[in-house]
Amino acid sequence: MLKEVRTRYAPSPTGYMHIGNLRSAIFEYLAARAKGGKFILRIEDTDQARLVEGAVDVIYNTLAAIGITHDEGPDVGGDYGPYVQSERKHLYLPYALELVEKGHAYHCFCKKDRLDALREEAQSAGKQFKYDRHCLNLSSEEVQEKLASGNEFVIRQLMPDTGTTTYYDEVFGNLTFDNSTLEDQILIKSDGFPTYNFANVIDDHTMNITHILRGSEYLSSTPKFVHLYNAFGWDIPTFVHLPLVVKSDGSKISKRNGDAMFQDMIDAGYLPEAILNYTVLLGWSPGDEREFFTLQELEQVFDIKGISKSPSTLDYNKLKWMNGEYIRKLDLEGFTRIAAPWIKDGIGNLELDYGKIAAMIQKRTNLLGDIPDSVSFLKEINSIDPELYNHKKMQCDPLAALDLLPEAYKTLEAITEWEHNAIYDTLSAKALELGIKNGKIMWPVRVALTSRPVTPGGAIEIAEILGKKETLDRINIAIKQLEELNG
Ligand code: GLU
Repeated sequence: MLKEVRTRYAPSPTGYMHIGNLRSAIFEYLAARAKGGKFILRIEDTDQARLVEGAVDVIYNTLAAIGITHDEGPDVGGDYGPYVQSERKHLYLPYALELVEKGHAYHCFCKKDRLDALREEAQSAGKQFKYDRHCLNLSSEEVQEKLASGNEFVIRQLMPDTGTTTYYDEVFGNLTFDNSTLEDQILIKSDGFPTYNFANVIDDHTMNITHILRGSEYLSSTPKFVHLYNAFGWDIPTFVHLPLVVKSDGSKISKRNGDAMFQDMIDAGYLPEAILNYTVLLGWSPGDEREFFTLQELEQVFDIKGISKSPSTLDYNKLKWMNGEYIRKLDLEGFTRIAAPWIKDGIGNLELDYGKIAAMIQKRTNLLGDIPDSVSFLKEINSIDPELYNHKKMQCDPLAALDLLPEAYKTLEAITEWEHNAIYDTLSAKALELGIKNGKIMWPVRVALTSRPVTPGGAIEIAEILGKKETLDRINIAIKQLEELNG
């Protein structure tokens, strides 16, 4: 019988989630779901100095926002808990001692001063620092004695220093590393906490994890993990390293620079569905031209075989375009609800019809964050730039505007029921009467109402939203301005 696929997302709560972290979570989740397996959330907080308050909530909230649910984890429990490494602290030392027993690890009592001096020496010689195994030669009596007298210690893994280590990665294939590059890494730190390099192996094994998906920055640590699995005599899980995500200048996205943080993207007006869809395409493809996927569809089609090893570039233009497509997919009611706070940002407490504003802007909005500016003219406009009246195709210029705006004013003033068709019919009838094209009268009206070269809607839509009084007031002001200009 095939083993149940079990994957895990194992974030360290050290900051906010960027798109690379999010991609690991999504790929781990999908790799499990696509095989009917289990997805586990494990919090890796062994580096107590780097903990950030609230960071675990950020992880929960982000997963929830994109619709990813975990089958086991700190909040939902499960058969393999605890799922927070600090709560598992007592579990690691016995495993490390087992390795000491088997000759694969040893106690080290070297003080910081000594290690610092060694490190400096290596640095000035231009060499990579490697622990010199000073404590490897201690007899077990000496070790016991030092422990009994309360000396601080760490436990180090004894690495082979000749030969090579090869492991297979699902994406990168067979990878071979020189053992001489492997350091006798620390497994248990002097504060009693395991290092990430030790804890991840113990946890993945004891939680029965079958597939490990993580960033390619872990490629070179994996030989050390392989030695740990072998030292314990444990099965080696399937390794799946994910390609780098780089910015358009080729540099790596990083937590430290605050790059591509999920929450910042939401705050800028990207929809979670679009972020999810875009993120999944960073290094994965379905093998055909399809680009749009819901989470449910991805659960069906995702396959580890579609992961590529070449770095993928975070392209905000593409993300923005995709976001616009998602905005277009929303029904008007849904879009109005989502757009409402952004509209309010643009028009303040003005009581206009949000549904009508939403209907006007939905076609042209790619980013919710662009909405406040695109609708702010509804709130107020400053003086109109007369240049805006110039439009060759509409045969309009400031003089023509000065002729036509009073006509528009009169005819609009007579409308009793202020709605789209009435406004349109009235202005069209006026154009017909004057023997001009519709556009020639619509253009100056649009300019008078907005004072902008480009607006998310035409004169009629905008007049309807502004209401009769405001429309007439703005046309009036525009006429006065033109009169002054023309002396
Ligand atoms: N805690 C590690 C990180 O946040 C997890 C890496 C892994 O998936 O093993 O990078």
